Amino acid sequence: MMDFASDNAVGASPLVMEALIAANHGAVTAYGSDPCSARAKELLADVFEHEVACFFVSTGTAANALALSALCPPWGAVFCHHHAHIANDESGAPEMFTGGAKLVGVDGPTAKISPDAFRKTLMDFPAGVVRQVQPGALSLSQATECGTLYSCDEIAALSEIAHAGGIAVHMDGARFANALVSLGCTPAEMSWKAGVDVLSFGATKNGTFACEAVIFFDSEKARTFAYRCKRAGHTLSKGRLLGAQMTGYLKDDHWLDLARIANAQTSDLARGLKDIPGVRLAWDAPTNQVFAILPRAADEALRRAGVRYYDWGSRGLDAGQSPASDEVFVRLVTSFATESGAVRSFVGLVREAVSRDHATPVAAGIVR
Ligand SMILES: *Cc1c(COP(=O)(O)O)cnc(C)c1O
Repeated sequence: MMDFASDNAVGASPLVMEALIAANHGAVTAYGSDPCSARAKELLADVFEHEVACFFVSTGTAANALALSALCPPWGAVFCHHHAHIANDESGAPEMFTGGAKLVGVDGPTAKISPDAFRKTLMDFPAGVVRQVQPGALSLSQATECGTLYSCDEIAALSEIAHAGGIAVHMDGARFANALVSLGCTPAEMSWKAGVDVLSFGATKNGTFACEAVIFFDSEKARTFAYRCKRAGHTLSKGRLLGAQMTGYLKDDHWLDLARIANAQTSDLARGLKDIPGVRLAWDAPTNQVFAILPRAADEALRRAGVRYYDWGSRGLDAGQSPASDEVFVRLVTSFATESGAVRSFVGLVREAVSRDHATPVAAGIVR
């Protein structure tokens, strides 16, 4: 199987499935007040070394949109990067669940908000100007949509600006685990210790079937959240379905093991591609995504072989990096289930296509 389209192309990890099967007996209380869900919340409090108010939902979009609705009023602004998932890939869910808040895009290279750009944007929305939306929340993606990372200090610096401006900080952690094992810091350091108030703790892409947690580090901010979840249809009656997944995911650091595998496959892929003449990597690949500019011949050969991945247009590239007409910019994502053989075959196909492409004109006596 050569699928590099996304880390959600695969199923759940076998240990998560075992946890689900183990939870599939007996009668327990409904709507998330079951022992499995309680256990998952205890594990999350341990993992984050903090009291937490946790809510389980079944999609990352719901996690983000509901989290933001708890932070930002309908007349508020959510500051996020122009490339943020909440701005481009959630079909207006954050706007709907906040009751109409405006998403305001902020600049910065490789999908990372730059502190200067954030400061400047914030100044464009002074408090008390009735004709404008009011500052509501800052949302950061960790890892970013470019697979890049904020260091803990960078998160802290942005949080400080947000808090000084009187707004809360949300982190879209759809790939929290991939970011964490890459930075080698603790979950606490990458979240509340760096000023994050509410975290969308992604788990689906890294091993659950459909379970994400919204984690509040200040329970006061979670006061209305149970109602928001229910109103949005995200209060599962068989709540143990989510609690069991999260328990299996967190137990014995399984989630960290899964993320290490996914990241290692991307580093192998990046290393293999970097050495091929004519292939360029757009930026570093510290997590489980690599963005590469491939010769079109390689792209065609890969497609012919049935390999799946996304053409990325030119999103996130500097003007000078834009793909030429005989090049394609692609995103490649690995997961805990990616096999080393698939990575080797991918690199092999690219190498082969590139050498074939170079060989043909020479054989035909054409100089270029
Ligand atoms: C995948 C992803 C999400 C969650 O998306 P769903 O498809 O709703 O689960 C959120 N943010 C980012 C950055 C993502 O990559």
